[in-house]
Amino acid sequence: MTFSLHGVAVSRGIAVGHVHIVERNQLEITEFALGEDEVEGEVERLLAAVSLAKHQLREVRTHIPPGTPNEIAAFIDTHMLMLDDAAFSDEPARVIRNQRINAEWAVKLQRDALVAAFEEMDDPYLRTRKDDVEHVVERIFRNLLRHPPPRHELPDQKLRGMIIVARDLAPSDLVLMHRHGVSGFVTEVGGPTAHTSILARSLGMPGVAGLHHARRYIQEDETVIIDGDEGVVIGAPDTRILNEYQVRQSARRDYVASLQVLRDTPAVTADGRRIGLYANVELVEDFAALHEVGAEGVGLYRTEFLFMNRATYPDEDEHFNTYRQMIGALGGAPFTIRTADLGADKMAGSVTPHMLAADNPALGLRAVRLCLREPSLFWPQLRAIVRASAFGPVRMMIPMLSSIDEVRQVKDILATIRNEFTRRGIAFDANMPVGGMIEVPAAAICADVFAKELDFLSLGTNDLIQYAVAIDRVNDEVSYLYDPLNPGVLRLVAATIAAGRAAGVAVAMCGEMAGDPRYTRLLLGLGLTEFSMQPAVLPEIKHIVTHTHLRQAEEIAQDFLFATDLERRRELLRRLATEASTDDAGEIVQP
Ligand code: PEP
Ligand code: MG
Repeated sequence: MTFSLHGVAVSRGIAVGHVHIVERNQLEITEFALGEDEVEGEVERLLAAVSLAKHQLREVRTHIPPGTPNEIAAFIDTHMLMLDDAAFSDEPARVIRNQRINAEWAVKLQRDALVAAFEEMDDPYLRTRKDDVEHVVERIFRNLLRHPPPRHELPDQKLRGMIIVARDLAPSDLVLMHRHGVSGFVTEVGGPTAHTSILARSLGMPGVAGLHHARRYIQEDETVIIDGDEGVVIGAPDTRILNEYQVRQSARRDYVASLQVLRDTPAVTADGRRIGLYANVELVEDFAALHEVGAEGVGLYRTEFLFMNRATYPDEDEHFNTYRQMIGALGGAPFTIRTADLGADKMAGSVTPHMLAADNPALGLRAVRLCLREPSLFWPQLRAIVRASAFGPVRMMIPMLSSIDEVRQVKDILATIRNEFTRRGIAFDANMPVGGMIEVPAAAICADVFAKELDFLSLGTNDLIQYAVAIDRVNDEVSYLYDPLNPGVLRLVAATIAAGRAAGVAVAMCGEMAGDPRYTRLLLGLGLTEFSMQPAVLPEIKHIVTHTHLRQAEEIAQDFLFATDLERRRELLRRLATEASTDDAGEIVQP
């Protein structure tokens, strides 16, 4: 009989296929004692297994498809770095020698100690790092036991078109699955901001996460439908349901293919309002994707990646050289550099050790608060941004503002730097726009105050939703409340846009909401004129913009601010998709 299971929608699209269940951590590890003459051979066996694991990951890394967010390569690099760490070689080798036990048991002891240490941590993000330890150790175990790799890691396997169901998947798993033609995935844990989900979105692989106990209900080889728009998995579908989804699936494929022609079309609504569509980027390699989709520039450059996987802060020249290279790649298009937003979900390893003690890092010393506390982190970055402004249209953006004092402090530092540069004859753009992110409810409510002292505002909805609804954005237990349509969230968004408009200050949005086609008309209706998003979704957003009657969208959007029940919101979304659209043929409307 047909059944449906509800999880969290993490990657859009529909997939239909047979299930393959991936079981992890099922390798049986036993302890045995070694004779004295066996000890060095056992150490060698351990080191060979670790080095094979590195080789396997290197292989995975070389198969990352072009256009994949660099976070994914960085994530695999983290696993390779872990394998380089003494924790996975010297320490188990020491245990093998001291206790004369087998390599598997020595690695298991080390894994247990590391996992226990991570579990003790208060910080939810760091707690999830224990999964990295498990992934890395499992690979070493497999190699030690000469166990075949999981099916998705084997070449020539018949995974094409299948749906993977697992407790959890690492981004490296997803890369391989993509290579084998897997059509979708379901995981029991995880949520939209997990690395695997980010990768799935850029690969266009439909996925549902946080579906607790999925493996209890879904059987190996049965047919399921994954609805990555709604976060639903349908098991044992009858012919009627299958047909219905297959029609939706092929309509969506045709639609996405048809959007390629929009690259050079300006983003103008049916009634003539020009809308700015910008890209969110992380590294210089991302710029190729930006040109392919016809983005107008960069609306958010997340500089945190410059700080990751290293022991010291980047110095002024390192910042400057990176920005300079990016300005060159942009060829005169606007470049919005966000100052470091470290802390909470964006830890930077050893550069932020004192934050690890925080009970609640999302409410702690992060982003601009940390920057103001640590001049050796902040000043080199600001000096580099000011220098870079001489070479192209740079805009500087401050994250996580909660009080106007923070703006004033940053501006004081900028003034000091500019004075020094003027004295020393170092070139810079004296009119470089300085903007701020509105992602704390207090800042949204007082957006008029910020608009008076900043050149532009940008709504960071990923955090704004987290703080407005009081849920941790990386906790899948409460992700059902992570709702951009919550009227409380929408009123904050609307108030910010209105405040910007009254002050004549541009308001953009660079959170994930800006790149979600379900909300484009609503945001247009609320008056948003600048969107910044993952490049892959830009053509679809442009299509919607160019097929929108702004006036109708504005009327319907106002009703959203009071729509407290789900049915009402669905009805309003339907109205936006029909009444505010110039052409609903071929357009995928998300109910
Ligand atoms: C946001 O919070 O919406 C945002 C764009 O910033 P980040 O996701 O980097 O915190
Ligand atoms: Mg944010």
